[in-house]
Amino acid sequence: MKMDKIIEKYDVIIIGGGAAGLTAAIYCGRAMLNTLVLEQSLVGGLAAGTGEIENYPGFPDGTDGKSLMELFYKQARRFNVKFKFTDVKRADLINDVKIIETFRNIYEAEAVIIASGARPRITGAPNEEKLIGKGISFCAVCDAASNTGKTVVVIGSGDSAIEEGVFLTKFADKVIVSVLHDAGKMDCNEITKATALSNPKMEFIWNTVVDHFDGDDQIEAVVLKNLKTGELIPVKCHRCFEFIGHIPNSDIFKGMLDMTDEGYILTNEEMETNIEGVFAAGDVRKKYLRQVATCVGDGAIAGVKAEKFIQIKRSCK
Ligand SMILES: Cc1cc2nc3c(=O)[nH]c(=O)nc-3n(C[C@H](O)[C@H](O)[C@H](O)COP(=O)(O)OP(=O)(O)OC[C@H]3O[C@@H](n4cnc5c(N)ncnc54)[C@H](O)[C@@H]3O)c2cc1C
Repeated sequence: MKMDKIIEKYDVIIIGGGAAGLTAAIYCGRAMLNTLVLEQSLVGGLAAGTGEIENYPGFPDGTDGKSLMELFYKQARRFNVKFKFTDVKRADLINDVKIIETFRNIYEAEAVIIASGARPRITGAPNEEKLIGKGISFCAVCDAASNTGKTVVVIGSGDSAIEEGVFLTKFADKVIVSVLHDAGKMDCNEITKATALSNPKMEFIWNTVVDHFDGDDQIEAVVLKNLKTGELIPVKCHRCFEFIGHIPNSDIFKGMLDMTDEGYILTNEEMETNIEGVFAAGDVRKKYLRQVATCVGDGAIAGVKAEKFIQIKRSCK
């Protein structure tokens, strides 16, 4: 028997309860908007799964991501923001009334803020999932300092992999880069490539992919495989940084919102997308730096802009 979905109406719906979504929620809630956050997993998003966050201002001794995100959540709740833990399956954003659909409900809103984030692309090699956060990292800015004097492995040879690899040499004694291509060929720009090749702390292992990761509670080695010879090359390390791209969580908006080829949503500086009343904030949008601090900035702007949008729309009626 087909069950009719329950319809609920809100002023603003925020998709995603990570750093960007929670900040937008604080601003919308404080502006007395009837605000709903839809989160498919745990509140706090990527940051909540991050051990130590040392670069978020206001915490001179650092903080763990989970505690930080709990504070964001608590603050949003203080302003009467409603949370529902469910997956957004479909969105129809074109019309004045924005429709968001989950398994059980249809939500209607005057404005929508998309803060659904992006997930790091992983290699898929055995033992990887278990060691994420236990030596496998996706963020040099976040985790570089704890590698002082150590050996780290970098996977990838695009601009961010090689730039982050060079950055890591400020801390680590040795940065070993696994490159998919033949010797001397990388995906990054030529200047970065030349800088990396002349850096005495960097070493390159060509024609390799990750075969598997070794370690139980902490990474012990990355075992690379030479694609030409099949040889397995164990590389002992303190940490492995994977820089093989991110996948934005934007599939459900494809064809509706302007995006980059990779799926990052295009916005202007006021977080406006190509559709009136639809804003995007945080890692899901095309931006230069994906960090909690920049997500907070995005979320604040999106929240304020959503409020202004609703105010103007109502005053025109
Ligand atoms: C390992 C690692 C370490 C990091 N360390 C640091 C650090 O030290 N300092 C720092 O500043 N930054 C760090 N970052 C980056 C930082 O975590 C991110 O930039 C930030 O958390 C992104 O926030 P966001 O709100 O844009 O997205 P996310 O945190 O990804 O939140 C998006 C949320 O949307 C939800 N969602 C997605 N699709 C749907 C859907 N269809 N329906 C409902 N919900 C949906 C997801 O479940 C998720 O909770 C780190 C990142 C990683 C991966």
